[in-house]
Amino acid sequence: MKSNLPRQARPRKFQNVIGQDLAVKLLHNGLKRNLLGNVCLLHGPAGVGKTTLARLIAQWICCEKHVDDEPCGECKGCVDCMNGTHPDVFELDGASNTSVDSIRTLLDGSIYKPVVANKRVYIIDEVHMLSRSAISALLKTLEEPNDYIQFVLATTDLDKIPKTIISRCFRISLDSINKDSMQSHMTNLADQYGINISASAIKIITLSSYGSMRQAIAVLEQAALLFDNKVNDKDLQKMLGLTSDDNLQNIIKCIKENNQLSLKQLIKQIISEGSDALNIIRQILFELRQLGNVSEKDIALGYMLAQSSVELHQSPYPEEILDLHLAKAAMIYAISPDSMRDTQMHTVSSNAYSKSIDIQVNAMPNELKMNKDVNVDNKNVELNNTKSDSSADAKSDKGKDNIGNKDNIENKGSNDKNSNDKDSADVSLRKLAYDMFNKN
Ligand SMILES: [Zn+2]
Repeated sequence: MKSNLPRQARPRKFQNVIGQDLAVKLLHNGLKRNLLGNVCLLHGPAGVGKTTLARLIAQWICCEKHVDDEPCGECKGCVDCMNGTHPDVFELDGASNTSVDSIRTLLDGSIYKPVVANKRVYIIDEVHMLSRSAISALLKTLEEPNDYIQFVLATTDLDKIPKTIISRCFRISLDSINKDSMQSHMTNLADQYGINISASAIKIITLSSYGSMRQAIAVLEQAALLFDNKVNDKDLQKMLGLTSDDNLQNIIKCIKENNQLSLKQLIKQIISEGSDALNIIRQILFELRQLGNVSEKDIALGYMLAQSSVELHQSPYPEEILDLHLAKAAMIYAISPDSMRDTQMHTVSSNAYSKSIDIQVNAMPNELKMNKDVNVDNKNVELNNTKSDSSADAKSDKGKDNIGNKDNIENKGSNDKNSNDKDSADVSLRKLAYDMFNKN
């Protein structure tokens, strides 16, 4: 394998950029018709091709003989661009050069005409990281740029760019790379660089990269180096802190059977084998998304896990949080269908569910809200029958949901004649929650 795979694999032509068809077409047409303006702003998630496109713009401008509407890749202009030595191309990383002095130094020569190309090209990466005074200095140049200046700005955080800058830019939005495009590109790269890797291992790389091509290529290179160009699923899962498919299926089985003891033992074993707590949640969520028929309980499980992944990410004790959340998730499968139906959960379609697990959702059944809002000392017990019809109602109930002592719960449960199944499910769940909080 050649060294530095991400650099070697960087596309040298617009047609070779993966997974950004609309952005590339817009950019390419803008360049061909000279309609790009003096300032172009590329924005999108990390590792999806912003720097690649910025450098392709520079190469297009510096190329001495275009071939098939692409930079030829062979002339001196192209070669100098690819080597980073072209006298008319200037690049600044805004993340590590945030000061006004860096911008002033970069723009010092902008009053002069280009040396060999038609334009001087200024590429500023992570432009949102520049200091306020650096942005002001940049804005001054952007307000009245010379015709022979081309700015290409790139950012992962558009919201942090002042509107005064954005309004002067030709904006191009880049998306995360879709799984199919990424898998096909990874397969081609593996063939090209002599890496022996299975289709399922490529799938694992794709899923663990969350739409970032740079991340996927870096993982492929790392695995090839670590395992001597022979990458199998097991080694790769270990390297990435993922658990095996068998373990994953067993976790889901334990959750669905509400088998708390086996679940706890399994998680302990998986963590001791080196798997990462957050990755386990993400793997379960991914498995849930693959289900054809999603039950109401699967939806509730998805909500819970999506919420817990946010908490895990921020916690200094991810393994303990994982333990607790999976135990809570398993309790969902102990609730009667009637109890589930009385929440707003049943109105969520499978399609909405698939999308919903990417975001944090507050609409939980009240019986599952037992984190910070639980007050076990409160003697004035009131069982909440969770009849809220909207997420707004569910939110307004947050903080009022109290779990009382066992006797009070049983009394209340037996006195209510209209909701036998539901209340018994509520009571058993609340007993479990009460025991769990008392133990901890
Ligand atoms: Zn060329």
